Amino acid sequence: MTDDCVFCRIISGNIPSDMIYKDEKVVAFRDVHPIAPVHILIVPRRHIAGVGDLAQEDAGLVGHMVLIARRLAEQEQIAESGYRLVVNSGADGGQAVMHLHLHLIGGRKLDDSLG
Ligand code: AMP
Repeated sequence: MTDDCVFCRIISGNIPSDMIYKDEKVVAFRDVHPIAPVHILIVPRRHIAGVGDLAQEDAGLVGHMVLIARRLAEQEQIAESGYRLVVNSGADGGQAVMHLHLHLIGGRKLDDSLG
């Protein structure tokens, strides 16, 4: 838990969120500024700043994040229509919140461009 991290504060309940999933490793809540009808963030409970801070031992955690995203896509009924999973890393990658998170985005036809 890092006091100045918005996602740590959401995980600890200090900042309200539209939380839709919790387990011992990750939480998932709706993005406050959604770019599509479905825009969910899958976030590890442990504070990991970003991809660059992952250790080999975190491989299972990253796989778990992807599988939870798939489960939430099914729950949100966008599994068949399709969706995008995005992890932004660093300034040029567009990472604004320095706590690792996986975006699950769908519910409309997304731009073919990856930016
Ligand atoms: P990124 O640019 O990959 O770091 O994405 C950060 C995301 O977090 C953005 O899509 C923001 O809209 C979202 N976000 C920031 N603060 C909150 C919050 N308090 N609750 C939900 N989503 C948030």
